[in-house]
Amino acid sequence: MAKYIFVTGGVTSSLGKGIIAASLAKLLQSRGLKVTIQKFDPYINVDPGTLNPYEHGECYVTDDGAETDLDLGHYERFLNIPTSQANNVTTGRIYQTVINKEREGEYLGKTVQVVPHITDEIKRRMLLLGESGQYDIVITELGGTVGDIESLPFVEAVRQLQWEMPEEDCMVVHLTLIPYLRAAKELKTKPTQHSVRLLSQEGVHPNVIVCRTEHPLTDELKRKIALFCNVKPDAVIEAMDAGTIYEVPLKMLEEGLDVIVLKKLQINGYAAPELSRWKAFLDKLNAPKSKISIGLIGKYVELQDAYKSILEAFVHAGAVNQCKVQIVNVHSEFIDASNVAGKLKDLDGLLVAPGFGSRGVEGKIEAVRFARENGLPFFGICLGMQMAVIEYARNVLGWQTAHSTEMDPSTAYPVIALMEEQKKVKKKGGTMRLGAYPCHIEHGSLAHKIYYKDQISERHRHRWEFNNNYLESFLQSGFVPSGKNPVNGLVEIIELKNHPFFIGVQYHPELKSTVENPHPIFVSFVQAAKYYADHKAASRPVRMEKESARG
Ligand code: GLN
Repeated sequence: MAKYIFVTGGVTSSLGKGIIAASLAKLLQSRGLKVTIQKFDPYINVDPGTLNPYEHGECYVTDDGAETDLDLGHYERFLNIPTSQANNVTTGRIYQTVINKEREGEYLGKTVQVVPHITDEIKRRMLLLGESGQYDIVITELGGTVGDIESLPFVEAVRQLQWEMPEEDCMVVHLTLIPYLRAAKELKTKPTQHSVRLLSQEGVHPNVIVCRTEHPLTDELKRKIALFCNVKPDAVIEAMDAGTIYEVPLKMLEEGLDVIVLKKLQINGYAAPELSRWKAFLDKLNAPKSKISIGLIGKYVELQDAYKSILEAFVHAGAVNQCKVQIVNVHSEFIDASNVAGKLKDLDGLLVAPGFGSRGVEGKIEAVRFARENGLPFFGICLGMQMAVIEYARNVLGWQTAHSTEMDPSTAYPVIALMEEQKKVKKKGGTMRLGAYPCHIEHGSLAHKIYYKDQISERHRHRWEFNNNYLESFLQSGFVPSGKNPVNGLVEIIELKNHPFFIGVQYHPELKSTVENPHPIFVSFVQAAKYYADHKAASRPVRMEKESARG
């Protein structure tokens, strides 16, 4: 039977519960335990798929096609095992299930209420992964902050589970903030005391308190927190700000978070932590031998969480190459033919980001053109790949009005078109082409050199696709559709023959990059950018004259 750890948050949001949960999971995994993490979010959207990235950051997609919270990305990047539909549950999904059951008459005339019906459904889902027999430990992160109205049913479900389970099968880790008052030169414990009291009023008492802090906690301070929050002093864990999120597991190891958890759950005979690969990654990450600048061309660049998995994939790929990857955010809305060269000329590679809708797409197309014409390494993801197709159609094939029907439904050259299966779709939530699909790779292509495989599986989240009616015209001019879905022939990868590194993918490779398995396209792209950086100098004049001629 699995044991359960619940991670709650107090004082403020954005304390990094996901990273603490993932770090604890990593440590337990490194001691030979089978661990998974799930996230329960208190908002009413059924899943975050319909949320604007400005609201909630990137939408992470699992192999089985769930649109989930970006914390699941951290779980996968840390644990190197896939998550699934069951790993992310929202209030919306809970209510949807209960209301559907009510409509089917399953409650046999009873009044359907938050307690017990909603809390029962929360508990059922909290136990689901543990009952699969696959895991020794299930860590559940509760989204939101203790005291929020909307998180009450979740805390109540944890209270009931703690009451129902043997003491040693269930525990609560509470993450709080210890603010530093500069004027008083003091760390303050009161907000933590209040947040633990609030949690206790709701019937849940934490077993461990993890304290986010900008300054080290003295033993005296730890004892004070322990006394007033009614936990043992060794259950007060300091979580100092770290240089990178990937150092947090090692910091938690130093603090003994895993040991206190194992003690409480009465798990004996565990192995010493095996973190050699993790540490080797960190050593490389912290000792770069070179540096490159990659332009991230997107329309949400002011919000870093919108491209979380892409940024992390660059951290992984940079470490492999012992190369510091500096990301230069370029807002696509402000790129045009007259300024593109000025904005992009100092970069060593260009990544055109995924996205939806027409805002900023002309800037993306200009950026692709610049990369194509100047031999600048190019990597387009999803919408970024679609923009590369449009750019090629317009500027190489000469179809000036070519577009995607997403942005221009009446274009004369719909080189990117709505997929057949999408034409009948009316509802927005969960209806894109989602999750893992196989892709067959052509021998001799750049993609084949990168993956070194004939068949891959990657995750998707889109409605539009390369329009195969135009394939013949594209094929005649150095454009290579190097990856296709083996079943329906959808083009998944495109590349250009006469370019040092130009690749666009319809899927999202960033979602599968982990510390222990950096994604091969990111790794190769960083290598190509490094090569470009080393050789750019005078031999590679940026072709600005075309721009000015047009401008
Ligand atoms: N908007 C495009 C589509 O739906 C691309 C989606 C994406 O970049 N994730 O096909």
